[in-house]
Amino acid sequence: MEKHVPIKSIVRFETCSDYISHLTNAEMSVKRVHKTNACENRFCPICTWKTAKKDAIKLSVMLKAVKEIEGKEFLFLTLTSPNCGAGELIEELDRFNKAVSKLFRRRNVQRVVKGYVRKIEVTTDQEQYITEKVFKRKKDYFEMRGLKVGDPNPTYNTYNPHVHAIVVVNKSYFNKPSDFLSKKKWLEMWQECMEDKSITQVDVKKVQDSANSNAVLEIAKYSAKGSDLYHSETVFDTFYKALKGRQLLVFSGMMSDYAKKYEKGDLDRLKEKNEDVYTHLLRSLWKGSKYDSKLRELSPEEFEEFNKQAELIEESDGVE
Ligand SMILES: [Zn+2]
Repeated sequence: MEKHVPIKSIVRFETCSDYISHLTNAEMSVKRVHKTNACENRFCPICTWKTAKKDAIKLSVMLKAVKEIEGKEFLFLTLTSPNCGAGELIEELDRFNKAVSKLFRRRNVQRVVKGYVRKIEVTTDQEQYITEKVFKRKKDYFEMRGLKVGDPNPTYNTYNPHVHAIVVVNKSYFNKPSDFLSKKKWLEMWQECMEDKSITQVDVKKVQDSANSNAVLEIAKYSAKGSDLYHSETVFDTFYKALKGRQLLVFSGMMSDYAKKYEKGDLDRLKEKNEDVYTHLLRSLWKGSKYDSKLRELSPEEFEEFNKQAELIEESDGVE
């Protein structure tokens, strides 16, 4: 990180969450983060994890609202592009984002799609030779090219951008043939928007249980997984330059309206209630290899104030 950011940010990054206080009870059977000195850097593993948990809750409340209030349904759409080299990644991500916007502006898409939330994700292949594990995962691809375990990996040191989106559709999408867009049609449109006929995959399916769906977790999670991001300095630099300052989670149309409602507290009634009662505060300081913690009872004023603040479940509890 040192070469990318000022020293002030390095210090915040290095000391991220070395102080945490939790609301708890005497038995410490319940726990909720009260205060912490999070660095909020998007390349920090702790903060990425916390943001993902928070976004997952936000998205599931929003989906519940859009379904209940607007009577809509959802699609889970995954758009991919061919792998590219490190040097082309920034350009490729820009091109990719433009193509996604173009796709959602098409007339037959706009007719049935009322909004979406999308997340860009980048993975990298850092296996120089084909390992057994890699072979198993992409068996068809390797066999088609006559490659076997131990051969040089043709996608070594390439990057793969893709987008996951939860798309709001009218109910008629599923029961009116003129509104329905087949997987083949989505692929065709995506190829046209990307101006690339070599793209072979588009994944689209109906979101079944919108409140507890994998789609929500997929959208909420990191844009780059830790094992990729921290693979080596060169790989980190590539990710850093490509993802820095880029809007990763994008809301559009009805989803954008509902994101604003969520932030304003208009959807609080749909949030899960927190039944826990907190009587104590646990303050923890990181001491090199473990937290040093002290427990104390809350004052009557604190008891009232902190329990009121904790009425709704809004974010994950506890950095373990
Ligand atoms: Zn952090």
